[in-house]
Amino acid sequence: MIPVFKPHIGSETILAAAQSLDLGWLGMGSLVKEFEDAIARYLEIESPREVVAVNTCTSALHLALILAGVGPGDEVITPALNNIGDFQAISMCGATPVFADIREHDLGLDPDAIEPLLGPRVKAVIALHYMGIPCQIQAIRDITRKHGLRLIEDVAHATGTRMPGGRPLGAEGDLACFSFDAIKTLTCVDGGLVVTRDAAEAARLHPLRLLGMTQPNERLYSNSRAYKYDVLGPGYRYHLANLHAAIGSSQLRRLPEFIANRRHYCRLYKQLLEDIPGIVTPPGDFTDCSMFIFVLRVLGGRRQELMDYLKEHGVETGIHWMVANQLTWLRDARGAHTIPTTDRIGAEILTLPLWSFMPEATIVNVANHIRTFFGRPIVSTSTYPIHNVASEKF
Ligand SMILES: *Cc1c(COP(=O)(O)O)cnc(C)c1O
Repeated sequence: MIPVFKPHIGSETILAAAQSLDLGWLGMGSLVKEFEDAIARYLEIESPREVVAVNTCTSALHLALILAGVGPGDEVITPALNNIGDFQAISMCGATPVFADIREHDLGLDPDAIEPLLGPRVKAVIALHYMGIPCQIQAIRDITRKHGLRLIEDVAHATGTRMPGGRPLGAEGDLACFSFDAIKTLTCVDGGLVVTRDAAEAARLHPLRLLGMTQPNERLYSNSRAYKYDVLGPGYRYHLANLHAAIGSSQLRRLPEFIANRRHYCRLYKQLLEDIPGIVTPPGDFTDCSMFIFVLRVLGGRRQELMDYLKEHGVETGIHWMVANQLTWLRDARGAHTIPTTDRIGAEILTLPLWSFMPEATIVNVANHIRTFFGRPIVSTSTYPIHNVASEKF
């Protein structure tokens, strides 16, 4: 079976993990600081903005919402085509999600869908960059500024994507959250990141990620801890551990290569599939994009049929995600019945296999199964030379 996801764990990651275990300080420590510094450099995050690493993106979103002032009874506008982690983070604040429709073009939040949903309880907007392609974040920011709302960017899909011709994503919102979970392009096995606007916000996050304790950060970052501390309020056990940070740093060193490969594979998929009338491929040519997933839209109600056909032929596909208004918990959330584009496209999306090191022949193979399903002539594999990077192993 060709899997949808396949993390790249090379010798450098295995070595980094072993060295971090050998260090003898497993928890929050010096390697977390190293990871934070390296990723801040990579994402071009400059003072006064800062990064704070945490154990998951769900935790990052929870803390970002707290910083945004979201509390019990409040509402947060977000697409219903989003990760469960976003809805749960909103719920952890005692708030509820309000669903805004998406744009057909990039499947990101539609800026025009925000204003009709505004009301006294709306405090913030979460916008995500679906697949790795930037959403209309600047237009969304103009609207949130106009109405005094906080904007949180969910960059979980798009670590390393740059605004067209500009800086890496994560700089347009008031706060940005990243995921380094098991299947993301850069993995810590589990990990997350909050990008704050300034040092004061970062200083609030430091105790929040460590049970509310007022531990001096310099102490923690040198693999030690204070035994006398204060606790000023609620806090969570959300810190990143040295082991996870070391894995993240090793992956980060190879991220430019992961991104370049994935972009190349997405272009190849698109080239091999875009002439098929029954499907819609993602927009653009992926320039400046760090692609997490390659999502087709299967028209004419044939998604399940294609999914089953591919499975029979050894190709696993995925759905990212079930639209939230189909979940028992959220089916009657505000906005749940007024998102026609999300409803339609949510029934069409199909995620094809995409890894950081994938033989081109595998892509041609997957594409040919899809072509056969739609009765189109297949493409010769020999047109696509195989430089089998996927065999690179520890
Ligand atoms: C993966 C993901 C999350 C959750 O990240 P975790 O690190 O698994 O908690 C949140 N939002 C989006 C868009 C994601 O893809």
